[in-house]
Amino acid sequence: MYSHEFLRAFYHHKPDSIMSYTSLSLIFLVFIILSCNQNPDQEKQQRTPETYSGDIIDMHMHTGLPHEVPPGTPSLCRPAPCEGTVPTTVDQTALMEKTLDIMDTYHITKAFLSGVDWSAVKEWKKTDPERFIASPFILKPDETILGELKTEYAAGQLMGLGEVGTQLNGIQPGHPSLDPYFTLAEEYDIPVLIHTLGIGPYMPHFRSSAGSPLLLEEVLVEHPKLRLFVENAGFPYRDDMIAMMYQYPELYVDVSTITWVIPREAFYDYLKTLIRAGLGKRIMFGSDQMVWPEKIGEAVDAIQKAPFLNAEQKEDIFYNNAARFLRLDSPGSASL
Ligand SMILES: [Zn+2]
Repeated sequence: MYSHEFLRAFYHHKPDSIMSYTSLSLIFLVFIILSCNQNPDQEKQQRTPETYSGDIIDMHMHTGLPHEVPPGTPSLCRPAPCEGTVPTTVDQTALMEKTLDIMDTYHITKAFLSGVDWSAVKEWKKTDPERFIASPFILKPDETILGELKTEYAAGQLMGLGEVGTQLNGIQPGHPSLDPYFTLAEEYDIPVLIHTLGIGPYMPHFRSSAGSPLLLEEVLVEHPKLRLFVENAGFPYRDDMIAMMYQYPELYVDVSTITWVIPREAFYDYLKTLIRAGLGKRIMFGSDQMVWPEKIGEAVDAIQKAPFLNAEQKEDIFYNNAARFLRLDSPGSASL
């Protein structure tokens, strides 16, 4: 019964004795207590045996967007028509502080962080060196960048490659201009994040067709030592992603924006298929925080509440798989 219906019943009742008033008052009191116990906030905080409470590694974070958006732009959502729920935080300092606060809340102890502006990435890393794996966002292949990258890797300033977001400019992963980047990543034995999927920002040169996971095949054949992971688990190219992951055991994925951009049911359908295909040991958590740090919590929530994941599978996604991929236990990877 809803509270207003109960109150109407309470006030319209005509009791014929003091006892009736007392009984009704008692019932009313019990009703209030029960209502308090059903507070949605309290329900949200309730932990079940399946709730993961350990450290989290976020394999996909940014210091901003690779393209300009006006202040206050609502968070991304798909498919249109839909409305984003959180406005942008564009000020760099505010964005970093808010992100760090939220990372503390969710025990995110390590994050693969990239940005088009390398100085911002380095600044975040300087603020919390143990936490961030600093990496450049590659929007367009460029030979001069390659030279600079070599210097950064040699000095240990940057420690990953990507997000390789060249699909935003319609460039396929196997394009010859990207080959030297993958060679460099192999040489320095660093993790590489790539945007290879069906969806992305509404940019004029973005092409869904440049995002089929099958297009990774030549890259993986040519660069057998590449430590590559695919954002959004290649959504929605489910079968192609499974084929690539079955055939190339070194290939990992992260869940990134599909935890909060698409309808939750669509994310669960997709994730469940990958889990049922036996790939639960190679799926990593990633929030794809850009300028909406509040979405990190939503991404965590999507994994916590997945009804088909058991405690061990959540621990794998939140931590173990990324720790293995990053080789956190190996000597020499301490700086990661
Ligand atoms: Zn991203």
